Amino acid sequence: MLNQCPHSTVCLPATELPRVVVIGAGFAGIHFIKKLRGQPVQVVLLDKNNFHQFQPLLYQVAIAGLEPDSIVSPIRKLFQDYENLVYRMAEVERIEPETHRIFTNIGWVSYDYLVIATGSTTNFYGLHQVEENSAGLKDIRDALDIRSWVLQNLEAAAITCDQQGKDALTNFVIVGGGPAGVELAGALAEFKRYLLHKDYPEIATDWMKIYLVEAVDRLLPMMSSGASAHALKVLKKLSVEVQLNTAVKGYDGTTVTLGNGEDIQAKMLVWTAGVKGDAPKGMPEGAFVKGNRLKVDNYNRVVGYANIFAIGDVAAMVSEETPKGHPMLAQVAIQQGNLLAENLQQHVRTGVFEKTFSYRDKGSMATIGKRNAVAEIGKSRWKGWFAWLLWSTVHLFSIAGFRNKLMVGINWMLRYLKYEKANRLIIRKFKPISNKSFQSF
Ligand SMILES: Cc1cc2nc3c(=O)[nH]c(=O)nc-3n(C[C@H](O)[C@H](O)[C@H](O)COP(=O)(O)OP(=O)(O)OC[C@H]3O[C@@H](n4cnc5c(N)ncnc54)[C@H](O)[C@@H]3O)c2cc1C
Repeated sequence: MLNQCPHSTVCLPATELPRVVVIGAGFAGIHFIKKLRGQPVQVVLLDKNNFHQFQPLLYQVAIAGLEPDSIVSPIRKLFQDYENLVYRMAEVERIEPETHRIFTNIGWVSYDYLVIATGSTTNFYGLHQVEENSAGLKDIRDALDIRSWVLQNLEAAAITCDQQGKDALTNFVIVGGGPAGVELAGALAEFKRYLLHKDYPEIATDWMKIYLVEAVDRLLPMMSSGASAHALKVLKKLSVEVQLNTAVKGYDGTTVTLGNGEDIQAKMLVWTAGVKGDAPKGMPEGAFVKGNRLKVDNYNRVVGYANIFAIGDVAAMVSEETPKGHPMLAQVAIQQGNLLAENLQQHVRTGVFEKTFSYRDKGSMATIGKRNAVAEIGKSRWKGWFAWLLWSTVHLFSIAGFRNKLMVGINWMLRYLKYEKANRLIIRKFKPISNKSFQSF
């Protein structure tokens, strides 16, 4: 029953139980909440979106391989049977630790315990011109924007008689040679190889060029040098022009300026070169480390606070072994969410936190085009088809919800047998923030 709770201007059920407010229904937030089901606490979940998203497959939505609803799950459906949970779609604007309140676009809420699980956002490292003229790949809207942008440019190229203009419209630049950049470049290259000539007979396959620009000397720098070399070899075979040791300095919507003095004419640039913590305002400057992440102790308590916690990408557990905090990965977020839920239950019962966090590395993987991947788990290393099979299995099992698993599984099976993407639709047009140089058709 909904009562106006005196400890909030957001309508919430009144309760005598301790209130745990969770900001963010990403990997960290949902795993934390799942473990608190039926426990003697009131969980209030706030997220600006009404869905949880599976970010590792965003690139497949971007290249029209999957529909968005295969990789997002409605939050209310995920937690339908949780009696001690209240979800409010709300954007948190500010935390006020002194008064134990959170201010959102729908009012304020007070907390006994606060869990900040707001993840990360694209880091353009102060390159404002690039930010205004490019797209990131961080959420489902970015993926849909990229999809529209690729198709819009190809439509424009198909009706452009001027060859220079056609070239710029069929040049695609991806910045960042981490898993997101490598996966996106590989998928775009497969699109070019299998679909371009069918859908766009006006565009010769050779005209479409995909550039992958990376500032350091190898792709997938978080993996072994063997995995980096394999990724480079496969992408080159797919005709992706990989530029290593090259930084992007600027992009005005047409010209990509590179640190080596060269430039590329391209009407599309996707930035996957970095992320930073996405904490709401209100926490003091001293609570942050480099990369805008909240510094936490090994119970995930934000330094200086007994009842504020940060988990997942937004948290940096700095220690001798992890001087920059743990890597921003789904497994770190999941494991921190699970452990904090256990510790919090213990704290509610006994007033103490029991278990310190220790990350169990379950390995890294990245797919490179169709039926090819690299995978490293412990000392075992695979590349090629078997790694791709492993990658597919792990990702299929990790997606939330049976329906989504089924949809993605069927889609992949069909694509394995035949390269066909059914979703080449421009549902809404994309325009970069700075629309000055945008060429519509
Ligand atoms: C393209 C891409 C590919 C990736 N591939 C892999 C991979 O293959 N393997 C891997 O391990 N990791 C991968 N990652 C990283 C992984 O997705 C993240 O580490 C993980 O999502 C972090 O989980 P989180 O819960 O901390 O944050 P998120 O999952 O980002 O969730 C944050 C949540 O907070 C909400 N939120 C943010 N700010 C506010 C606010 N002010 N008010 C209300 N709600 C808010 C957001 O809406 C979101 O629901 C990838 C990431 C990207 C972008």
